[in-house]
Amino acid sequence: MRNRTSRLSGFYKLGRDERLAEVQAVSGLDEAGVEALKNSSALPFELLDRLVENAIGGFTVPVGIATNMIVDGRDVLIPMATEESSVIAAVGNTARQCRDTGGFTTSISGTEMIAQIQMVKLTDPWAARAKILEKKAEIADICNGCDPLLVKLGGGFRDLEVRIVDGQTGPMVVVHIIVDTKDAMGANAVNTMAEKLAPNLAAWTGGKHHLRILSNLADRRVARARAVWRAADIGGAEVVEGIVLAADFADSDPYRAATHNKGIMNGVSALTLATGNDTRAIEAGAHAFAARTGRYRSLSRYEITAGGDLAGSIEIPMALGLVGGATKVHPTAQACLKILGVGSAAELSRIAAAVGLAQNFGALKALATVGIQQGHMTLHAQNVAIAVGAAGDEIAEVARRLAETHTVRQDVAEQILAEIRGRK
Ligand code: NAD
Repeated sequence: MRNRTSRLSGFYKLGRDERLAEVQAVSGLDEAGVEALKNSSALPFELLDRLVENAIGGFTVPVGIATNMIVDGRDVLIPMATEESSVIAAVGNTARQCRDTGGFTTSISGTEMIAQIQMVKLTDPWAARAKILEKKAEIADICNGCDPLLVKLGGGFRDLEVRIVDGQTGPMVVVHIIVDTKDAMGANAVNTMAEKLAPNLAAWTGGKHHLRILSNLADRRVARARAVWRAADIGGAEVVEGIVLAADFADSDPYRAATHNKGIMNGVSALTLATGNDTRAIEAGAHAFAARTGRYRSLSRYEITAGGDLAGSIEIPMALGLVGGATKVHPTAQACLKILGVGSAAELSRIAAAVGLAQNFGALKALATVGIQQGHMTLHAQNVAIAVGAAGDEIAEVARRLAETHTVRQDVAEQILAEIRGRK
């Protein structure tokens, strides 16, 4: 294994086998991992059939590597699974621009998940609340009894909250059990506990238990990342100020915030999918967290440092796992986790927050300077070329000419393709 570095300049120019060899050399990925990646577009049907019901096939999404990321002093190669062009290149580019300042520094609030139990038909919700809180020790035993392995690994029940929620049908008592799920995302783990506990709550309070399910608003599992981009490295004070203005727009206007946060999730969801984690859970948590003040806001912040540089930061719930779900079952996910070289779900989550910030900076910088289309269109032009039927060498030529005319449209692509074929 070579020195672990994510600075693989010219990586994009290499062929597929050379790229895999580079990744293997710096990450220590084993032969099985390389084979898994090589065969990732043809997973055995038995595996697909085990993952979902009524399986009839697979849907292949490209996995690429974002280079240049330094997270907490460690060079990390980021595997990203996405169908969208420009996403992976943007992370590598923006990560390069903050390498000299040390890359990304991260932290996480914990690895606790919340399961909710809805109690209804209670005439005295406040008394019920008090009765439930009195039973905390018993509740801890019931929850921990559901998952001895998790407890043995240092996880398990941590805390209890009881809220009175005024619904349109009347007040309901909502019990939160807070469970440290360690290296698991934890949905199954906490749902099992909630289902086991619920009848006891009904017996203690005289009410009726209704829903028992985790909350995807994982606000006890908030990952944070920050980085500094030197003004001199990103085009000067005007660019710094432009990004701060752009970020203010996102934080002040939900119409803009939705797109701003979507850009963050371009990176986060691609890493989530590459590691076999639940993209919908991560998306739901992020957007609910963005709206936690009652107004939908930006997940990231940008400020000008005392020295005139740009300080970016992000806070985002990150319920990612290294075990459970498809993480251990999907061979591509296993290979991607090996490339990342992470030892815990917390570490993976922190890296994901850094990737979200990198992606966000890339989009903001483009928007605040040349606009998003310039970078996007080159790759998009290739997709349009393929969509109109270009094949082989035709793809590059149609794409180049589309980009040159600045009109990346299907009708224009059809014309160009007809011209090329007319020449032949
Ligand atoms: P899981 O039940 O497959 O695995 C978790 C279990 O693994 C733990 O309960 C523990 O017993 C064991 N374990 C072994 N090593 C561990 C370690 N180092 N740390 C922690 N636990 C360890 O999976 P899960 O994480 O409980 O659930 C995730 C799955 O649930 C995902 O597939 C997700 O899509 C799905 N899901 C999600 C939702 C939702 O997000 N709303 C709802 C239901 C199910």
